[in-house]
Amino acid sequence: MVLDGHIHIMGEVDREALQAQMAQAGVDGGILMSRPFAGYEPMETTPFEKRLTEVLELCREQEYRFPFLWIDPLGGQQTLEEIDEAVKQGIAGFKIISTKAMPDCPEAMEIYRHIAKREKPLLFHSGILWNEGPSANFNRPANFECLMDVEGLRLSLAHISWPWCDECIAIYGKICMMRYHQVEMYVDLTPGTPEIYRREALFRLHNSGYSVEDRLVFGTDCEANDYNAAGASKIIAADRKHYEALGIPAEIQEKCFSKNLLRFVRGAEK
Ligand SMILES: [Zn+2]
Repeated sequence: MVLDGHIHIMGEVDREALQAQMAQAGVDGGILMSRPFAGYEPMETTPFEKRLTEVLELCREQEYRFPFLWIDPLGGQQTLEEIDEAVKQGIAGFKIISTKAMPDCPEAMEIYRHIAKREKPLLFHSGILWNEGPSANFNRPANFECLMDVEGLRLSLAHISWPWCDECIAIYGKICMMRYHQVEMYVDLTPGTPEIYRREALFRLHNSGYSVEDRLVFGTDCEANDYNAAGASKIIAADRKHYEALGIPAEIQEKCFSKNLLRFVRGAEK
C-alpha cells in the first residue's frame, strides 16, 4: 500500500478525477491539506467554512484519506476557534507554513499547545519555501527546536527540511531521543530534495543512528485538484530504487510508504 502524506488542495477538486489519478499512480490514500487560509497570499480569499467543508468532503467514507486544515499560526483567538470547530467536525490534523514569524513566537506556541491538547498531529512546512518573500529563517529546522516544549505534540517536518537535511536529522535526534514532554516527531519525506541529493538524504536519515524506521512518511506535494499521477509514480519508483540500493529492508520500506503515516495521523504509539 502507498499513502501520500502531502497532498494540497489548491482549487476546485473533481472527486472522480482525483480517485482515478491516484489509482493510476498506485496511491491508496493520504493526507489532504485544505486550501490556505484567507490572506496567506494576496489572492487567497477562501473562507474558513468552505476550506473545512471541502477537505472533509473529499475524505468522507475514504478509509485512507485524512483531512488536515491549513491554519494561520498568527491568527490568535480566531485560529483557536477554528481548531476547535474543525476538531468537532472531524478534522484529522493541521498544517502550518511559517511565513511571517519564527516558529517559537508566543502566538504560534499557543496554537501548537492547543492542537497538542486535542491530540491531533501537526504538519509543518520546513526547508526553503518558494513564496513571494524571504522566509528561510522561519523554516530552518533548528528553529523548530522550541516544539520540544509543547507537551504531547505529534509533529512532522516536511521536505526533510531541504536544504538543511542534516539539521533536520539533528533536531529529530534530539527530540526523539530526549522525548521531553512526550513530544513525538516525524519526518515527511516529500521532495524538496533535488534528485541528486535524494539518495544521500535517505541514506543519512536511515543511518543516523537514531531510531527512524517508524517515523518517516512518504509524500509527493501533488495537488488534489490536478493530481499528477505520472509525477507521483516517478517519485515512488525513484524512492524504491534508492531503498533497494541502500539495502533498506522491505518491511521498513512498507512503513515509510504507508504504516508510518497511519501512526502519525492516529497517534498509535507502541
Ligand atoms: Zn507542501
